Amino acid sequence: MSRVYNFSAGPAVLPEEVLKEAAAEMLDYKGTGMSVMEMSHRSKAYQDIIDEAEKDLRELMNIPDNYKVLFLQGGASLQFAMIPMNLKKNGVADYIVTGQWAKKAYQEAQKYVKANKIATSEDKTFSYIPDCSDLPISDDADYVYICENNTIYGTKFHELPNTKGKTLVADVSSCFLSEPVDVSKYGVIYGGVQKNVGPAGVVIVIIREDLIPETVDDTVPTMMQYKIHADNGSMYNTPPCYGIYICGKVFKWIKKMGGLSAMKELNEKKAKILYDFLDQSKMFKGTVEPASRSLMNVPFVTGDADLDAKFVKEAKAAGFENLKGHRSVGGMRASIYNAMPIEGVQALVEFMDKFEKENS
Ligand SMILES: *Cc1c(COP(=O)(O)O)cnc(C)c1O
Repeated sequence: MSRVYNFSAGPAVLPEEVLKEAAAEMLDYKGTGMSVMEMSHRSKAYQDIIDEAEKDLRELMNIPDNYKVLFLQGGASLQFAMIPMNLKKNGVADYIVTGQWAKKAYQEAQKYVKANKIATSEDKTFSYIPDCSDLPISDDADYVYICENNTIYGTKFHELPNTKGKTLVADVSSCFLSEPVDVSKYGVIYGGVQKNVGPAGVVIVIIREDLIPETVDDTVPTMMQYKIHADNGSMYNTPPCYGIYICGKVFKWIKKMGGLSAMKELNEKKAKILYDFLDQSKMFKGTVEPASRSLMNVPFVTGDADLDAKFVKEAKAAGFENLKGHRSVGGMRASIYNAMPIEGVQALVEFMDKFEKENS
């Protein structure tokens, strides 16, 4: 067996310890004589798994008691519709469009509410986060929406927008649990877990209780009503059982690593190694304005598509996987989520340095 350094944007690298534990428990979970995959979601063993996962997540993120934690399906993309369907009161919502995922959310919302694009960075291929200190927030906006870390473009809101008192909704799929967060500043925080937390198939929604409506339009499918999931402890129907179990293990791993401040420190260290290299390189260039750089996703280019392709090919042969950039940006992208060891980033930079010397 040999493991590669996996720089995939998602599904992405998971802590090796978690994978080993899951492997050890595959045939017999804690004396039950079965895998978690085979277990009734109504069993005591599974109830303990989901309860403990929620408890650990609450502890890690310091989630206030007036927020619900929901483990749902449909990926982050289903939330693009669930959010306007459930949060709609006046039927108006403001969107800050800083990349493809924010744009998709904005477009989906138009089906259900009057969605306004109040800021965007599309003019420069989403390579920066616009100034959000004084935006034209709609007086009747039900919420203001952001994608906090832009997975494809490698930008991050380092300061939350001034929503002028309106509810903030954030897609944190690619920065989930990467640093401490003040949950009370948000109405809804949600993310697909396959970037930084677990296997694809689970989306976690953290929502302030008063935002969960008692009633919604009768055209809203039952499975898309927050209230149904909140009232049933995420078990209205069969939840993504195995995925939640792995997320629970990742929460414990992060706790053991020292929690979210320790995670942030490590992530800053890893990102600095890569950005420092890019800043001094004559061949490789980061594509993002320095003030907007993400700690998680780092896109870079050589400026020559053939050389980019050669780099990706040789990197793959050397054990660095999934470095090809998103098709809309080109070049390369290294996603260096929580579970990417610092050695992986160091090894990548050494490889880039060697490649630069050999090809210039
Ligand atoms: C990957 C990603 C999505 C889409 O997630 P799915 O689970 O595939 O629907 C949405 N938002 C962000 C920020 C992402 O990185």
